[in-house]
Amino acid sequence: MSDLSYVNPGPESAWGTYLAQVDRVLPYLGSLSRWAETLKRPKRALIVDVPIEMDDGTVRHFEGYRVQHNLSRGPGKGGVRYHPDVTLEEVMALSAWMTVKNAAVNLPYGGAKGGIRVDPRSLTRKELERVTRRYTSEIGIIIGPQQDIPAPDVNTNSQVMAWMMDTYSVNVGATSTGVVTGKPLDLGGSLGRVKATGRGVFVTGREAARRLGLSLEGARIAVQGFGNVGSVAAELFAQAGARVVAVQDHSGTVYAPGGLDVGALQAHVRHTGGVAGWHGAEPLPAEQFWDVPCDILIPAALEGQITAERANRLHARLVLEGANGPTVPAADDVLRERNVLVVPDVICNAGGVTVSYFEWVQDFSSFFWTEDEINARLDKIVGDALATIWDRADLHRIPLRTAAFAVACERILSARQERGLYP
Ligand code: GLU
Repeated sequence: MSDLSYVNPGPESAWGTYLAQVDRVLPYLGSLSRWAETLKRPKRALIVDVPIEMDDGTVRHFEGYRVQHNLSRGPGKGGVRYHPDVTLEEVMALSAWMTVKNAAVNLPYGGAKGGIRVDPRSLTRKELERVTRRYTSEIGIIIGPQQDIPAPDVNTNSQVMAWMMDTYSVNVGATSTGVVTGKPLDLGGSLGRVKATGRGVFVTGREAARRLGLSLEGARIAVQGFGNVGSVAAELFAQAGARVVAVQDHSGTVYAPGGLDVGALQAHVRHTGGVAGWHGAEPLPAEQFWDVPCDILIPAALEGQITAERANRLHARLVLEGANGPTVPAADDVLRERNVLVVPDVICNAGGVTVSYFEWVQDFSSFFWTEDEINARLDKIVGDALATIWDRADLHRIPLRTAAFAVACERILSARQERGLYP
């Protein structure tokens, strides 16, 4: 399955899933398929040691990564994830999905991703800052505003981006706001960036529901993951009249068949760190989340959540992939068989990187847009990209995921071909 000696992906691992997705698009690439092997190897992968002094005086080492999967269409772009299960292979897959996502939306970027194998909840704020700064220094040899631009991902936020920006700037001897996106507003951040990924999920979901003839008014929504993506998507769907009936996160699952109060749940999570223990809904055993009657399912947590077995059980007509890589290839087949529409990650959650692009452009021009301008441009770019992908899916009678890969991979491999091989 993989010719790379340094990874050994299983068929349902993140990299295995990505490779299978690439294989599915090859028949639609025509003569460009000559370059397809490019997609199956990261251009560059950096593994770094991140030693820090803990508050108690001991020294601990963490493993960090930055993978630049493809730079044919522009600088690398993609988030940084802090999670105890992060591996090189996972970061490779996430970086590859960034390549496809950036091309699917036609942003002038390649794809990259970073990560540190650490549980940030086990660190104090000072330790988190030291981990972030040392990691940034270590990957400083390959990032930069014109080379590769990190951003937030799972368990990282605007404060982490501020430390990254500061560390990089001190190291190069000049303030460099364009080196990361998702920064605080005071430091060249963009209005609308925090909610952008959830907003993109809503925009693509609204459009897909319209095409399916599914009214959002009263639609039942189940959300897995209640972080920056899931909680904002839930909020926007609730504002549009939908009922959020189930929410699952790392702490537990809550269920309210009549619809739950999203704002109250967000407040509880801000307070306690998770949905568990919230009194506004009933608790549910984790696995029963997949059996909840709903119309729209939003996986907005980690990869590999929708297995073939769960795909057979779930009730939704529409799946909106807020997470990266939540559906394994065998589950994609089951969902297609069952006539469940999947709006794939590479377009569904592209709102985040789209507003990251706006932030980067604003930083370069030192001229900042209003939130209304940003939201309107996000709506238009992501909506138009989805329409293009939809047309391709109709043309070849293929799933939206394969169509998104077809549109994106054509752009990536055309750029590859036009640039040519050097030397
Ligand atoms: N981490 C987000 C993603 O997976 C955003 C990346 C970015 O803004 O560069 O798309």
